[in-house]
Amino acid sequence: MIICKKPRELQDILEKKRKEKYEIGFVPTMGALHAGHLSLVNAAKMQNRIVVCSIFVNPTQFNDPQDFKKYPITLEKDILMFEAAGCDVLFIPSVEDIYPNGTSNLAQYDLGFLETVLEGKFRPGHFQGVCQVMDRLLEIGLPNNLYLGQKDYQQCMVIKKLIELIGLEDKVKVNICPTLREEDGLAMSSRNTRLLPDDRIKATTISKALRSLKENLKAGDTKKIKDEAKEMLLQKGFLIDYVEIANADTLELIENWNGKEKVVALAAAFLNNVRLIDNMVINP
Ligand code: AMP
Repeated sequence: MIICKKPRELQDILEKKRKEKYEIGFVPTMGALHAGHLSLVNAAKMQNRIVVCSIFVNPTQFNDPQDFKKYPITLEKDILMFEAAGCDVLFIPSVEDIYPNGTSNLAQYDLGFLETVLEGKFRPGHFQGVCQVMDRLLEIGLPNNLYLGQKDYQQCMVIKKLIELIGLEDKVKVNICPTLREEDGLAMSSRNTRLLPDDRIKATTISKALRSLKENLKAGDTKKIKDEAKEMLLQKGFLIDYVEIANADTLELIENWNGKEKVVALAAAFLNNVRLIDNMVINP
């Protein structure tokens, strides 16, 4: 595995590979790797001659400075894990490499409705940061295929929208990979390592609440079923940002389900300052 720290190094490698008509797969991450990340690498390996991964904890997407400060960093271990998973090129840039002109006057993207709901509503500015870093990463290492996790459902939609906004939809294909879970159902996440032992046990309630919602959702008013899911979380001491049902393609929130449209149940909640998110798609 080649490790690149400078954008120029990555650009030079990829330019050669593109000339040789290699398909390039790209897996962007913030490190603190777990099997969920590696499942994206596996998917990329199956469909591309060369797999590029990145580790960059992007300061501009953290609306909460404490969350940024406490974000887990396990670089040595990550390098070994990416290498073992078959990553060909690992890009580990610095903040200055990604944002050579600083972080204060970066581009803003018109994400419309997507930025006003769910994560957009509860984490103001977060998706602008996601777009800023993805725009730059795509500029440095334009891949044929981009691999993202369904775990961050709304982020996948935002990045697809970004790709349209910057006119790359014919060049970059977005591949969305299923959420990998721990045995007890908790969606794998770098932030899980920050859970206290008792909270780690309680954390599984978030997937249980969504599963119960998925299994019991019926056409009609969705309030009661959402309230039941919220109650499950409140009983375990979660502080809830949202539990919602939304149209799976647009993320319009659904108060009254017609029983036919494909929807997604999404939740975000805190356990002692650790924010967890999860979602499950419901196909009628
Ligand atoms: P992150 O390092 O949290 O920015 O995540 C990097 C990529 O891994 C994103 O596309 C995430 O959606 C994806 N990812 C995170 N957790 C999981 C998971 N449990 N299963 C599958 N993909 C995941």
